[in-house]
Amino acid sequence: MVKTSKSRAMLQAKCPRCRRGNMFEGATYSLGSNKINLNCPHCQMVFEIEPGYFYAAMYVSYAMNVAEGGFLWVATFLVTGNNDSPWLYLTMILGGLFILSPLNFRYSRVILLYWLSPKVHYHPELDIDTPVDGNNYKWFK
Ligand SMILES: [Zn+2]
Repeated sequence: MVKTSKSRAMLQAKCPRCRRGNMFEGATYSLGSNKINLNCPHCQMVFEIEPGYFYAAMYVSYAMNVAEGGFLWVATFLVTGNNDSPWLYLTMILGGLFILSPLNFRYSRVILLYWLSPKVHYHPELDIDTPVDGNNYKWFK
């Protein structure tokens, strides 16, 4: 049985516990469907570990926006060489961040659950083809 790699699971926004179930309902850029599932459809993990858990994803999203804004600023300068117009930079940075906002929303939550949640671990025994109720397992032995 081939196990799902962490990088692939993160890229596809899969559940951090089983790496099989989708964390989100729809596609990244489909309108109105960028919602996170309450439970993993494969292992039943509750994604929002406690009420308001995803408020912490705002900090991750902020860091991502700052990095992307810096990248867009440098890229705009390298492509245009313009040093005079702040409107060019403002348009490029805000437009780019607007276009990237669905990705930031999604991957800030993925990063929060994969890297910044110490109690969430990968369980290879759940990384199987048939869906299981992972909540029946004893996780804390
Ligand atoms: Zn799962």
